[in-house]
Amino acid sequence: FERLKQGLQKTKDGLVGRIDTLVLGKKEIDADTLEELEEILITSDMGVKTTLELVRTLEQRLKRNDLKDGAALRAALKEEILQRLELHHAQLNPSTRHPFVILVIGVNGVGKTTTIGKLASRFTSEGKKVLLAAADTFRAAAAEQLVAWGERAGVDVIRHKEGADPSAVVFDACKAALARNVDILIVDTAGRLHTKVNLMEEMKKIRRVIDREIPGAPHETLLVVDAATGQNAISQARLFKEAAGVSGIALTKLDGTAKGGIVVAVSHEFALPVRYIGVGESIEDLRDFDPREFTDALFL
Ligand code: GDP
Repeated sequence: FERLKQGLQKTKDGLVGRIDTLVLGKKEIDADTLEELEEILITSDMGVKTTLELVRTLEQRLKRNDLKDGAALRAALKEEILQRLELHHAQLNPSTRHPFVILVIGVNGVGKTTTIGKLASRFTSEGKKVLLAAADTFRAAAAEQLVAWGERAGVDVIRHKEGADPSAVVFDACKAALARNVDILIVDTAGRLHTKVNLMEEMKKIRRVIDREIPGAPHETLLVVDAATGQNAISQARLFKEAAGVSGIALTKLDGTAKGGIVVAVSHEFALPVRYIGVGESIEDLRDFDPREFTDALFL
C-alpha cells in the first residue's frame, strides 16, 4: 500500500492537494466551491463527462443539505469516485480457462511490452505455465524486448522473422500453447494506428485465427494506455474499443503524472474495468487495480 501511495504521489499532490486547499477549513459549501472543484477535476484528467456527472451529483447532495462543510465535500467526492470505479470493476482471473488467452493491444511506447513482461513474471511466480507470442512483427526491437522479458521470467516466446504475418505467429503460438499444456498465452500485437479500418482488419484476422485454434479465445483483450498522455489515452481507448473490442484496461506510468484522474475517466466513460495499473518500472509496480485501495491511496 505504501508503494502504491508513493507511485500515486504526484496525483495525490496535484488532484487531492488542490482539493484540500479548496475545501479544508471551509465551514460552508456553495455553488462557487463546486465550480472550482469542477475545474480541478477537469485539469486532473477526470474527463469532462465524468466530472460533470460527479459535480451534478454533489450539487444534488448540497441541495439535500448533505454537504455541511469542506470535510463533508471531500468525503462525498471520494465516495462518489469509488462508487463509479466499483461499478465497472472486475479483476482478471486467468484460472477460468485453459489455456487462457490474453490479447494485448495499444500504440507503441505506452508500456505494452513491459506490461506483458511483468504479467509473465507474475503469473509464472504464481505457478502458472506461460507462453508469449511476439505478433508485433513490424518492429524487430519489439520481439527482442519480449524475448528479454521471457528470459528473465523463464518463459518461452514464439516469434517469426521481422515483417512476417502476425496471424502466422498467432497460429503457431496457439498450437504451441495447446501442445505444451500452457496455462496462459499472452499475445503482443503491433501498435500501428494507420487507420481505423486497417486496425480493424488486422485485429479481426488475428482474432479469427485464435478463435479457430482455441474456441472462445481470446478471453481478454487488454488495452494498454499511458496515463501520462491524458486525453490521448482517452481517444486511444475510444478508437480501440470501437475497432478492436476491448475487455479490460491497463494504465501505465501513473507514477509519472499528476493526472491520475484518467483512471476514473477511462473506466467510467467506456464502462470498462481497469485490470492493472503501473506505478513504476519494477515488476511489483504493476498492480492489480483495486478501487478502494486506489481511492484510499489518494485520499487518506
Ligand atoms: P511499448 O512500446 O508499448 O511496448 O512500450 P515499452 O514496454 O517498451 O515501455 C516504454 C517505456 O515505458 C519503458 O522504458 C518502460 O520501462 C516504461 N514503463 C512502462 N510502464 C511503466 C510504469 O508504470 N511506470 C514508469 N515509470 N515507466 C513505465
